[in-house]
Amino acid sequence: MIGTKDDGSAAAPGRPRVVYIAGARNCGSTLLDAILGNAPGARSLGEVAGVFRYRSYLACACREPAADCAPCVAVLGAIDRVGAAAEFTKVSRLPLKERRAHWTLIGTRARRRYAEVADLVFDSVARTTGSRVLIDSSKNASRAAALAFDSRYDVRVVHVVRDGRGYLRSRRTRAAADGTRHIPVAAMSGWLTKNLLIGSVLGPRLGKRRYLICRYEDLISDPRSTLDRICAFAGLDATGLVEAATEQGVRRSHLYEPARRVDYRHVRLDPARLQSQRESRGRNLAFWLLGGFVSARWGYDRRQSYLPTAFVPVGDRPLGS
Ligand SMILES: [Zn+2]
Repeated sequence: MIGTKDDGSAAAPGRPRVVYIAGARNCGSTLLDAILGNAPGARSLGEVAGVFRYRSYLACACREPAADCAPCVAVLGAIDRVGAAAEFTKVSRLPLKERRAHWTLIGTRARRRYAEVADLVFDSVARTTGSRVLIDSSKNASRAAALAFDSRYDVRVVHVVRDGRGYLRSRRTRAAADGTRHIPVAAMSGWLTKNLLIGSVLGPRLGKRRYLICRYEDLISDPRSTLDRICAFAGLDATGLVEAATEQGVRRSHLYEPARRVDYRHVRLDPARLQSQRESRGRNLAFWLLGGFVSARWGYDRRQSYLPTAFVPVGDRPLGS
């Protein structure tokens, strides 16, 4: 029997834990999920909210079709046996949309039901794989609330926040690839709402023991202290994780999910990633006026001073430098 979540114990042996990665789209959650999933005793489940969208003909991260991958078959079989699939599909419609923001404030029957069914998934995976720490990178604030308040597991929420300019650039690139219209104001309000919901509504209710904020830029530019901090919070062993993530890179183990545009089966922390977020002075000003000033609460400034100045092209230096 798993203990109740509010008994105050930290990392008690015998009590599996869920590390939930929350954040806006394109925040780097998959990158962090892949890295943490490689810690000893941990297992990444990807976006648990969407687990039943996966089909056996899709490829596992090990490149085998899920139907031929023994660990996947074992985990899915265990989930199937507890009959969670149909119920989860019902309670988890539009799994990655933020349609139940009120869950961050109010306990409802649907919220409890979501946590119950998610617990069945966690039980199945913990039993089948023997993992002590399960990583769920569903991102969504309402699902984080459901698990944090109603799950039987000890749930810790890691909020990954990324500079809104990096986010907007990703959305712009995606819209261009899809041939859809990119509306900066709409994208910006989605990014702000989600981060404020997680950081300012949910975070204070969880307290320091169960909520940790981590900037994507710190993960990339200072992986050692950032991963040490996250692992200490999540009860994970960080030994060797930084070297693996920065040198040869890490692989996601057995996990299958619908095809994605970016191949996350093998990831490496590369400081050059940040350079793609650099914006011109004009765009920085527009970002700031559009609401970017709110991101000062997460340590960002208008000039993107987290970027190494050596890379600033002549003529685009911040004012006053
Ligand atoms: Zn596999």
